[in-house]
Amino acid sequence: MKRRSFLVCLTLSPLYGNELLLDNNKYLTRDEFSTLIKLNNRLKKIKRYVGFANFNLLSYEDALFYARNYIKIGSFSKKEIDLMEQLFYEDPNKYGFHGSTTCVNINNKISLKHVKKIPHTGHYLFDSKPLNDYKSLKKDVGNNLILTSGVRNVIKQLSLYVDKIYRTNGNMTKASLSIAPPAYSYHTISDFDVGKKGLGYKNFTNDFAQTREFEKMVNLDYIGMRYDKNNKDGVRYEPWHVEVI
Ligand SMILES: [Zn+2]
Repeated sequence: MKRRSFLVCLTLSPLYGNELLLDNNKYLTRDEFSTLIKLNNRLKKIKRYVGFANFNLLSYEDALFYARNYIKIGSFSKKEIDLMEQLFYEDPNKYGFHGSTTCVNINNKISLKHVKKIPHTGHYLFDSKPLNDYKSLKKDVGNNLILTSGVRNVIKQLSLYVDKIYRTNGNMTKASLSIAPPAYSYHTISDFDVGKKGLGYKNFTNDFAQTREFEKMVNLDYIGMRYDKNNKDGVRYEPWHVEVI
């Protein structure tokens, strides 16, 4: 690269840590990124406090309550609250994410009456078609099929999104194409993720598509594949994500 254009890039690109970012993706500002780090830590403290399973159902108001009332967590700052609202309400089309809104209320509540906890998973499913689909899947695909993620309310989805933004150094384009923004996740209303027993983190990679379990799943007509290759939402290929139809 010529020295002059290199200097132009240097002025236009955000710099986090020692990494110089030269690409067309959209990034958080440095100020937003430093708020995001604090927000990420606070959300992790809340998860530790309420427990992994409960965290899946937690509402925004619940999270504010725990933060305010437990010294070890500590209240969210004004900047953190603004950033949470920004990440919930902004239009992610500008990042290349083209999915539909699934949740319009940042304070969405999920009642324990409408979900069922799935033993040994730390996850819940809506006690309607999603639960029926899961039971049918166990029957048709086999007992090696496991639930790896079920119902996720706003705070859980937000925490996954925030952590992904952190891991991509504030790269909103990359983050939103791998984890749906908090108002756009079908986990909040129906869908769930499955994997194969023993496959571990590879359940969330293309390796899952090589399993016998996946092979059996694609032939079932009562479920769909929300994020197949080249899906219209612009989301990466997710063979493990079950679309409830
Ligand atoms: Zn999923």
